[in-house]
Amino acid sequence: MMIVMKPEASEAEIAAVAERVEAAGCSAHISRGRQLTVIGAIGERERVQSLGLDGAPGVDHLVPILKPYKLASAQFRAGERSQFEIGERLVGDGQFTLIAGPCTVESRSGTLAVAETVAAGGASMLRGGAYKPRTSPYSFQGLGQEGLRLLQEANELTGLPIVTELIDARDVEDVVEVADVIQIGARNMQNYPLLSEVGRTDRAVLLKRGLSATLEELLMAAEYVLKEGNERVLLCERGIRTHESAYRFTLDLLAIPALQELSHLPVIVDPSHAPGRRDWVESMSLAAAAAGADGIIVEVHDDPDSAVCDGPQAIPAASFDEYAERVRSVAAIAGREVSAPAGMLV
Ligand code: PEP
Ligand code: MN
Repeated sequence: MMIVMKPEASEAEIAAVAERVEAAGCSAHISRGRQLTVIGAIGERERVQSLGLDGAPGVDHLVPILKPYKLASAQFRAGERSQFEIGERLVGDGQFTLIAGPCTVESRSGTLAVAETVAAGGASMLRGGAYKPRTSPYSFQGLGQEGLRLLQEANELTGLPIVTELIDARDVEDVVEVADVIQIGARNMQNYPLLSEVGRTDRAVLLKRGLSATLEELLMAAEYVLKEGNERVLLCERGIRTHESAYRFTLDLLAIPALQELSHLPVIVDPSHAPGRRDWVESMSLAAAAAGADGIIVEVHDDPDSAVCDGPQAIPAASFDEYAERVRSVAAIAGREVSAPAGMLV
C-alpha cells in the first residue's frame, strides 16, 4: 500500500504515519520526491487497511500497489520518475548519464589514460571491473583489490564517480570504499543475498538484467535492494539470450519504454555486450538514446586489440570524443541532458 502524504504534511505527521505502519508489523519506506512524499507500507494489505490511515493527519490518500514489486513500481512514486545524485551528478528524470571505461581494470597507465580521455569527452562516470565474473575459470578474473586501488586513483585524477562490479558479498567493504555505484552483473541479478547486501550500503546500485530474465524478474531483483532502504537503483538492459546466434545477445530496446512505464527507476543501456563487436556499438547507443534511455554504460579501451577482456567490443579511447558528441546530440533530441558537473562539458 502506498500512503500519499499531503504536500503540506509536516515532518511530525510523516513520522507518525510511519510509526503506525511499523507498529502494525509492516515496514514503512519513506520516499521524498520533488512534488510528493509517499510512504510505502509493505506487509499484509489487511493490516495496513485496518490502521484506518485514510483521513489521518497529513495523509492525502492511499493507493494499493497491485504489482508484486512495490517500491520499484511506477505507482509507488505516483508517476513521478526518480532522480537522485551520484557524486554531484544528477541521474534519472531528464538527465542522461554516460558511463564509460574499460571492461576490466588491467594496468595503471591504461586505466588512467582511459579515465582522462572519457572525462575530457564529457563522460558522467568511469566504469571498470576489478572483480570479473568470467565464463571460464581459466580466464583473467580481475585485479581485485589492486584494481580497486587503480580506480580510486582514476577518481582522484579525474573526479569521475566510479562504477565497479561486486560479485562476492565478502568483498563488499572494499568495494564500498571506492565505488560510487556498485554494479551487480547479469549473472548475479538473482543472487538475492548479494542484492540485500548492496541494499544495506549507501552506494547507488546498477542492476544488470539477467541473461534470460523477464522485466518483472529484474524489477523483483531491484525490490530486494530497495527493500533494504537503498533508493538509488539504476536498471540496466544489456541484452538477453534468444534463439538468435548472429550476435552475442539480443539487445532488448523495448525494455526502455516498458521499464519506464512499469517503474520510476532510471533505465541505463549497455550497448557493448550484446553486439560483442565495436562496429555495432555506436548504432545501438544512438538507438538507446533515441528510445529515451536515461543513460548508457559503454566499454572504452586505450588499446582494444591488447585488451584482456572484451576487446573486440571496446570503443578505442581515441574515438570516444566523437562518439560521445553523437550520443549527446541524440539524447538531447529525446529530451535528455548529459549529466556532468557544470563547467565540465566543452
Ligand atoms: C560487464 O559490464 O563487463 C559485464 C560483465 O556485464 P554483464 O554482467 O552484463 O555481462
Ligand atoms: Mn565486459
